Amino acid sequence: MKIQDIQAIQLLLATPKKIVIIPHRGPDGDAMGSTLGLYHFLIKNNHQATVIAPNDFPNFLAWLPGSETVKIFEKETEICTQILEEAEIIFTLDFNAFHRTGEMEHTLAKLKATFIMIDHHQKPDDYAKYTYSDTSYGSTCEMVYNFITFLNKKEDIDKTIATCIYTGILTDSGSFRFPGTTGNTHRIIAELIDLGVENTQIPVLLFDNSSFSRLQLLGRALQNMKILEDHKTSYTTLTQEELDSFNYVKGDTEGIVNYGLSIKDIVFTAIFIENKDEGIIKISFRSQGGFDVNQFARDHFNGGGHSNAAGGRSEVSMEETVKKFEDLVTKLKL
Ligand code: 5GP
Ligand code: MN
Repeated sequence: MKIQDIQAIQLLLATPKKIVIIPHRGPDGDAMGSTLGLYHFLIKNNHQATVIAPNDFPNFLAWLPGSETVKIFEKETEICTQILEEAEIIFTLDFNAFHRTGEMEHTLAKLKATFIMIDHHQKPDDYAKYTYSDTSYGSTCEMVYNFITFLNKKEDIDKTIATCIYTGILTDSGSFRFPGTTGNTHRIIAELIDLGVENTQIPVLLFDNSSFSRLQLLGRALQNMKILEDHKTSYTTLTQEELDSFNYVKGDTEGIVNYGLSIKDIVFTAIFIENKDEGIIKISFRSQGGFDVNQFARDHFNGGGHSNAAGGRSEVSMEETVKKFEDLVTKLKL
């Protein structure tokens, strides 16, 4: 972050302010961990802070401290709009373009508040007065840790804030495996553990708290998997009917996409998940090595993300979407 920006933000936060903190739509561990970590920090510094998520977060994140205070724009649009209109400062975390907030986009575009972006995705829009954007980081949570440190407030990081930050670093780094994971990431993690973070309990809450029906849904996704051997690609699908038959709840498909990369020699994988309510197929892409799935998602599926993990959407049927994907893959040099 630029030193002038840090000084300006320090000045801005020197007196109590009305602040809203926003994660992206479909918030994941990093989006919720970063917004709640920053929320606890701002409350501790006497600000009036509210996290407003565009839509609900999955149940496996409901244990995060402060999650009960999070307002859901989709559910309480009127009150959320009022809080947004009254805000003096708005932090947008773990995304960098208003359209990532879905319906909330139109409200955000009209606001007069000072926007501060903290994010690690590529190609940030320029809506924020202060932009802390760096794609080299594995998580926004690691950047929130840096942000608090830049403000000279590291001593404010307590067990609660540390727990939120730890969660996002853990989930977005694929449990410390993905390329953005550095020695510095581990040094931060060590500090967070020293602050009392329950590092053996958090993975259990996140990953080992599954329902039997979720495991069966995973089984179906694995059975549906197809391999395009000549193109080092795998993909799988879940239709709305399949989701319904395994009593799908939000969060149940989280992480399934990664299994497609666990096959020897596969470097590109995707999962296509039908959402009949929204009339779309939601897609997650993952790659290993040099193939840039962010660009692929942007070019062909109205999406984006990072070079090894991205997402997108399709508004045609599952069959047509998969056909389009297969056709594109056969033209790739992987
Ligand atoms: P996931 O596949 O886990 O939902 O998302 C992987 C990464 O891609 C995340 O960093 C997420 O923010 C980003 N991403 C997922 N879906 C979309 C999308 O529709 N548009 C954009 N721009 N990014 C997405
Ligand atoms: Mn993230």
